[in-house]
Amino acid sequence: MYKNLFMLFLCMLCIPLNAAQRTKPPQVTIFFVIDQFAHHYLPKLNPFLKHGIKTLLEKGVFFEEAHHPVAVPETTPGHHSISTGTLPKYHGATYNSWLNSDYKKIRYETDMTPHGDILRDRQSRQPGASPHNTKVDGLSDRFMLSAHGDPSFATYSFSLKMHPVIACANRLGKAIWLDSQTGQFTSSKAYFEALPDWLTAFNKKHQTEVTKPFYWKTAFPHNSKAYAFAHIRDYEHAAVATSMISDPKKPVIIPGVSPYELFVRSPQSTQFMFSLIRKAIKQLQKEGKKNLLLFISLSNLDLCGHMYGPDSMECIDIIYNLDKQIGDFMNFTNNTFGAKNTLYVLTGDHGICPIPEVTAKKGYFPARRILAKKLLKEMNELVKEKYDLEDFVKVYEPTFFVLDQEAIATLNREVMRNILHDLKHYLLNQPGIKKVWTRQEIARLPFQSDDLEQFYKNQLYKNRNGDLTIMTEPYSLITNYEKGTSHSSPYEYDTHVPLVIYRKGHLEHKRITDKVWIPQLPHTITRILGIAKPSASPYKPLPGIV
Ligand SMILES: [Zn+2]
Repeated sequence: MYKNLFMLFLCMLCIPLNAAQRTKPPQVTIFFVIDQFAHHYLPKLNPFLKHGIKTLLEKGVFFEEAHHPVAVPETTPGHHSISTGTLPKYHGATYNSWLNSDYKKIRYETDMTPHGDILRDRQSRQPGASPHNTKVDGLSDRFMLSAHGDPSFATYSFSLKMHPVIACANRLGKAIWLDSQTGQFTSSKAYFEALPDWLTAFNKKHQTEVTKPFYWKTAFPHNSKAYAFAHIRDYEHAAVATSMISDPKKPVIIPGVSPYELFVRSPQSTQFMFSLIRKAIKQLQKEGKKNLLLFISLSNLDLCGHMYGPDSMECIDIIYNLDKQIGDFMNFTNNTFGAKNTLYVLTGDHGICPIPEVTAKKGYFPARRILAKKLLKEMNELVKEKYDLEDFVKVYEPTFFVLDQEAIATLNREVMRNILHDLKHYLLNQPGIKKVWTRQEIARLPFQSDDLEQFYKNQLYKNRNGDLTIMTEPYSLITNYEKGTSHSSPYEYDTHVPLVIYRKGHLEHKRITDKVWIPQLPHTITRILGIAKPSASPYKPLPGIV
């Protein structure tokens, strides 16, 4: 009897092993990363989503509480979290840009060496681009390393902007983006010696696509319930007071805004990019590339969101259009690769703060815009008057002030301590400012992993942060701009994004309400694919998947 029980026990052990052996990893993995896709859009727009986003939310494994654990969730750190599975304090992409010793911005992707040269016909003063500032490996690297020389593996990343696509391609993937100088798709020497023929042919065929007049075709008629929301046509505090969707029969023209800048803020831009990606997939098939990892970063929502805010008809209609475009694209990829052979991921790199004045109009009175230039001026007046130092506070970048480093080197400790004390005291007396820390204070304070303050600590990296970091109250925005909005806080609206993983017949029909962190995603994907995880990812895989 004991022998039989022992055999039964052995068989029970065998069942999951055999089941796991039967589940072959998918050959194709496709990430849709919608730039600025805040979770707060979903409850509002869900009833009107009918295509790809709806399919993924309803049929996939939907993590309802997925957050970016950073205090200034921007495109570059957000895409790095999705790609490397770790935090800015490790991958180094603290923000989209940081400041050099002359207080000038250095963009993360900027590479002045020949390695970063942009591939385009015409010469330009624009610097090159590469992932040389990324300090760790990512999913694209791990995927290509797992090929062990098998030529059927390929990793491509596509975007309208260069920084997110480089963050996803890492060093071993291929990055392709829309060049703001030429309006054509391009890359850099970091990825190709010369642009591939199929890409050059595509560019030639669509030479005027980006600059020709276009019409904004909304997903629903203008008077549909899909747009029946408060403040949807409130342009009083938008960065541009003119709507891009005024008359469906007239081409989109806004005086003072270039055709390129309008195009990349429209649904047409991502439609155009999806047509390029279809072309790329057909080419990869011809080349025998069967094992694919594709990142598709969709930037128009972010570009539009800064200008018009998330309550606008422009942003809402971009999401409806992306829903349709993603649906059409999934039909194409399911037909091409087989639905059961394709793993889909849908997420966002960060959220968005509603325009503070619009939030205040809705009745949440503490919401406010805090102009950085006013703070800068008054802080400098304070230091001049009390310590006789000129222009001591140099610049504001979300969400910190940088002080005069040369002057600091000449000051004794006590004077410096007093200046910092006075500046903090001034800032803490401003409505909408909750906390102020020096860099050393953030590094030393013992926050817990769930504390919002910890998110500031996660973003510390040598020479890439300021001297005084500010935490605002919710819905308050410190900004260099008098209109529009941004994403620069550790609060729900900026950090909470949708997250779905879907593979037909394997990973489907689940809703997970546990709080999870976006950097858990790469480890999860590598588990599904059966490959090694990115080296600097300290996170466990997401629950309910593997
Ligand atoms: Zn943005």
